[in-house]
Amino acid sequence: MTVPDFDAAVVGGGIGGIYAVHRFFERGLRVVGFESADGVGGVWRHNRYPGCRVDVESEYYCYFDPELYPSWQWTERYSPQPELLAYLEFAADRYGVRPHFRFNTPVTSATWNPSRNWYEIGTGAGDTVTARFLVMAVGQLSDARRPPFAGLAEFAGRWVASSHWPEDEVELAGRRIGVIGTGSSGVQTVTAVAPVAEHLYVFQRTANYSVPDHNGPLDVRGWAGYGADVLGLSQRMLSSPTGSGLPVAEVAARDLSPAERTRWLEERWAQGGHAMNLVFTDQGTDWESNGYVCEFVREKVRVAVRDPATAEALLPTSYPIGTRRLIVDTGYYETFNRDNVTLVDIRSDPIERITRTGIQTRDHHYELDVIVFALGFNAFTGSFDKANIRDGNGRTPTDNWRHGPRTYLGMMTTGFPNLFNLTGPGSPSVLANMVLGNVHQVDFVGDLVAHMGEHGYTRVEPTEAAQDAWTRHVADLSGTLLRRVVENYMVHVNADGSRVFIPYIGGLGRYVETCREVADDRYRGFAFA
Ligand code: FAD
Ligand code: NAP
Repeated sequence: MTVPDFDAAVVGGGIGGIYAVHRFFERGLRVVGFESADGVGGVWRHNRYPGCRVDVESEYYCYFDPELYPSWQWTERYSPQPELLAYLEFAADRYGVRPHFRFNTPVTSATWNPSRNWYEIGTGAGDTVTARFLVMAVGQLSDARRPPFAGLAEFAGRWVASSHWPEDEVELAGRRIGVIGTGSSGVQTVTAVAPVAEHLYVFQRTANYSVPDHNGPLDVRGWAGYGADVLGLSQRMLSSPTGSGLPVAEVAARDLSPAERTRWLEERWAQGGHAMNLVFTDQGTDWESNGYVCEFVREKVRVAVRDPATAEALLPTSYPIGTRRLIVDTGYYETFNRDNVTLVDIRSDPIERITRTGIQTRDHHYELDVIVFALGFNAFTGSFDKANIRDGNGRTPTDNWRHGPRTYLGMMTTGFPNLFNLTGPGSPSVLANMVLGNVHQVDFVGDLVAHMGEHGYTRVEPTEAAQDAWTRHVADLSGTLLRRVVENYMVHVNADGSRVFIPYIGGLGRYVETCREVADDRYRGFAFA
């Protein structure tokens, strides 16, 4: 047998996987998609928790496709999860990708066959297929942390994870509910659940910065205007730092008077959401500048929360703002003014175990009917590693990542020919609009595969030198960042305590430009055979 079953196998049926299957098929490749869930949607299928919504404005968080864009209408500036899932199902239908997907079919192994130049892919359904190219669209935030608490099996109530919220009704109205975790998922859940709970207990380990999104109905005229020039909009976004229509910081805080600083802070606050990361040009690198933004947000918290002790416990003080992903909310702090909401500071009173009737901390017992875990993800490598990819010698792509990820353009790893990882480490990934990130990389991979076809190549991988240079470049860009010093899922910490910032911080525009230069230079840094 000299011809594999498929030209390309795509693993994952989220935003990236849908687009990859569509584009590869359109380019004439024989493509198969694998998705462990029962349908498309990825993050937006799994995270059905109440309050889940996008934190990038909807008009940017979608495929910039002239066929699709005018046929869809968002209702809100920041769409809620059901609408996002409906959109991805609509896109999957318009692209006609469902017949190419095998649902309920996790990829459980993928082994490179060096004599055939293809992958042998094993699935949870018990079959094996071969494919020349393996495209991992498994998501960077798709492998959820499991609850590590003792006693969970004894809990007589219902427990759920925000990351895998069940499709059946979870009865919340009139219930005593505990939410553990106050990242984006926890904050959104808390805000949505508080009005219906009999009582809501919020178990907070680290106080985070959260800023309002000022959500509201979508500006329909603006949407129609964009629809008239989708490709122009796409190019503008692809050359911008975040690909999401956010403003660019224009001034350094240290050059401003206190009154001017306040004016900029209020202006960005009024814009809402991630604009708060972009008040001053030096807030990401200068402690003092960053401190102005932190203190401004803390003051907003003090104003929003009536009880001074609760406000104090909610104040984020343990890290500079923007060094963990900023949380975007729809009235989170005001939730704590409700009589039926209690903040539990588990830093000072840690959780000891789950009991039959609730949660036991060191000093208190909380009686609960429902526990929601919003504990975050094994980011970047969680799902990638679980797919169990091996080279001809049994090594995995991340075996050499002990001192941080090593990639070329954040897409390929030396020693693993024909393997592409979408929106992975070393690419802008979670720092930019991830629809655009996925689309750009799929288009790059499609062009690369077409280039190989034209030249009769069956195998590609980055050279060691290109991978070393890119890995150094990614590290150099993050050298002065405050966000490198803070513990969070974007930082890899080595045994000696040194830190590597995982995504590419140079901005989406610069990244896209570099990829285009590489392609124009006959795919500089790639070795073909
Ligand atoms: P995913 O949507 O994660 O899809 C990956 C798919 O791969 C999943 O369906 C999974 O089941 C499947 N899979 C994994 N492993 C296997 C396997 N071995 N075999 C078969 N299938 C497998 N980003 C933004 O830019 N803006 C936002 O507002 C935003 N909000 C978010 C909200 C939440 C709750 C989360 C968790 C993430 C959010 N993100 C956001 C980041 C989000 O990851 C991306 O925006 C985007 O949805 C990623 O799409 P994807 O296709 O790359 O991956
Ligand atoms: P996260 O930001 O990692 O937050 C996890 C939370 O769980 C933190 O508060 C963490 O506390 C807490 N936690 C973890 N383990 C714990 C333990 N053993 N005991 C007590 N508390 C524990 O995860 P997330 O909220 O799911 O968000 C992950 C990413 O997904 C976001 O950064 C964002 O990129 C994306 N997201 C976006 C949106 C959106 O707005 N559209 C919504 C959800 C998710 P510590 O901080 O102390 O570790």
